Amino acid sequence: MTVAPLLEVRGLRAGYGQINVLHDIDLEVGNGEVVVVLGANGAGKSTLMSAISGLIPHTGTILIDGAPAGNPRPDQMLKHGLSLVPQGRGTLTALDVIDNLRVGGTNLSGKKQVDEEIDRWFEIFPRLKERSKQVAGTLSGGEQQMLAIARALMSRPRMLMCDEISLGLAPLIIQELFETLGRISTEMGTALLLVEQNAELALDIASRVYLLEVGAVASSGSAASFRDNNNIRQAYLGY
Ligand code: ATP
Repeated sequence: MTVAPLLEVRGLRAGYGQINVLHDIDLEVGNGEVVVVLGANGAGKSTLMSAISGLIPHTGTILIDGAPAGNPRPDQMLKHGLSLVPQGRGTLTALDVIDNLRVGGTNLSGKKQVDEEIDRWFEIFPRLKERSKQVAGTLSGGEQQMLAIARALMSRPRMLMCDEISLGLAPLIIQELFETLGRISTEMGTALLLVEQNAELALDIASRVYLLEVGAVASSGSAASFRDNNNIRQAYLGY
């Protein structure tokens, strides 16, 4: 018996009001798989993440483990195990680090579970532990992004979706974030769906790639085949 992918998107269309941005998107993410979505500014990458995570409505089908998910709200998608780190740092800036993490763990069953989960993310992001009582809005950009990732992971998702987590960060911090994401994927088996302009590092940890152009999938394939493609290298890797 073949196992259904964790996430399957078929003929997905979404947009804003009368404007359709995404046109018949087909996409899959397997259990524990790392997939990256590349595309130029305005290609529709954030819109795709918003539609999958239930922030905006869509037509077409989203299946989780082979079962149609309907047009769920973000909290319902979270129950299905899909958690989003939105573009622009998903932290509650007025709350301190530990309270941000507690909010991320509201679906967990009790204080003990929440505390265990916080300890786990403090181990992976020691810098957050050092700043546990600091208000999120005063953290550096990189620390805020670490907190946004840890917060999204507090719900113990099966799949973490990250919308351009490298935006505006220094190269060393970006490298650290991607190394941590790679660890989270290999050690915990969490699937990752990454939208990235920083293709180089994303391709290092991804197994498959989708290229979006003007709201449609222009091509898809293995990360290795994308690296070997001259046009893609020039457009997205800059060499
Ligand atoms: P970037 O890499 O610049 O973030 P993107 O690939 O994520 O771009 P989207 O942000 O999904 O692209 O935008 C796709 C299209 O949808 C763009 O033409 C954009 O202007 C439009 N768009 C995005 N958000 C909205 C909105 N809230 N209302 C109306 N149009 C929007």
